[in-house]
Amino acid sequence: NPFAHAQFVMSCASLDQCPTDALSELAFAGRSNSGKSSALNAICNQKALARVSKTPGRTQLINLFELPGQAGPAGRMVDLPGYGYAQVPEKIRKDWARMVGRFVEQRPNLQGIVLIMDCRHPLTDFDQQMLAWIQLGERRCHVLLTKSDKLGFGAGKTALLTVQKKIREMGIEVQSQLFSSHSGQGVEEARDALARLLAL
Ligand code: GDP
Repeated sequence: NPFAHAQFVMSCASLDQCPTDALSELAFAGRSNSGKSSALNAICNQKALARVSKTPGRTQLINLFELPGQAGPAGRMVDLPGYGYAQVPEKIRKDWARMVGRFVEQRPNLQGIVLIMDCRHPLTDFDQQMLAWIQLGERRCHVLLTKSDKLGFGAGKTALLTVQKKIREMGIEVQSQLFSSHSGQGVEEARDALARLLAL
């Protein structure tokens, strides 16, 4: 598992605070409660790598994790702040959109986005906004439809087809799969896809 030794490096409040090196990055994006932290932890096989502040309405940070390689770091995982609490003040919502939008559209290091959606509620407004930024930035994207243990086989397949259809219509280069950090479904498949995006 190329992600097993991921370690936290730093938090940044904006794109301008992120390191200016040439290290390839993969960014995790998802609505609050979509299962993003659990997915990151499952992929890296670590219990508490992503411990995002869950305080609604608080300004959140971009968290960076490094993947150690043979001679220095091999890549970076970026945990973008989640969004979607109902009672978020307008100011925080705008700050979030500016920070995440700029990161996805402009970050030179970014090799791909891992977009996390709860398979029971895919393509929320948040997800559509992310897909629009991904489209603008001409980014590659891998979608994880999380909590697949909550759906039966047929419903999971339907969720996957719905998302794939939408993405095809947008003309983005995206792959998607079912994923469960609880049952382990799709964890290996996700590691393989992410390693390819990062050219590990
Ligand atoms: P985040 O806010 O997107 O980082 O979401 P978390 O990873 O903290 O998960 C939000 C909630 O969903 C928690 O109660 C998790 O236990 C639950 N959850 C996360 N992944 C799964 C999964 O694969 N299956 C099930 N059934 N629940 C999950």
